[in-house]
Amino acid sequence: MIDPLFAKISPTIALTHTALHKIKVHAMEAYPEECCGILVGTAGETGKEVLDVVRIGNAREENRTRRFLITPGEYAKAEAAAGAEGLGVMGFYHSHPDHPATPSQFDLEHAWPWCSYVIVAVEGRIPAAVKSWVLKEDRSGFDEEIMNSVERVAAGPARENTGHAGSTRAHTTPGDRG
Ligand SMILES: [Zn+2]
Repeated sequence: MIDPLFAKISPTIALTHTALHKIKVHAMEAYPEECCGILVGTAGETGKEVLDVVRIGNAREENRTRRFLITPGEYAKAEAAAGAEGLGVMGFYHSHPDHPATPSQFDLEHAWPWCSYVIVAVEGRIPAAVKSWVLKEDRSGFDEEIMNSVERVAAGPARENTGHAGSTRAHTTPGDRG
């Protein structure tokens, strides 16, 4: 598990170009229905970093254009796969077909603490604004996260000017996984 206190220290989220691209493509393909999926990555003192995303089939039978649902089974599977890579679930993404990238009342009622909720607006099949949100502690609403898009190769850390390449994957992960 990841310490929820990190959400207070670091209200920022970075998405790799690859992760962001996958979200937009999924949103386009699902249009005019909502798409949804899971954000996989790491969390640290500087915030969350989303290295990849996992598509989830929209489990809701009716009203699929306005609601999304991730089953516990799908979530557990994605979490286990992420854990095997030394990564964790950072939150969720979904699309808002022909609606702004702001959380709905439904989103608020179903949001989990700490998790990031990336919402991509889709206007006539074209991805528009992408924003990320975190539930306020009192559940009265969401705070918008500062979102950055970063370049990463595979799931590795950024190449820095340290002179050595090919260092090991992933940043420190707070807390023990269990
Ligand atoms: Zn929504």
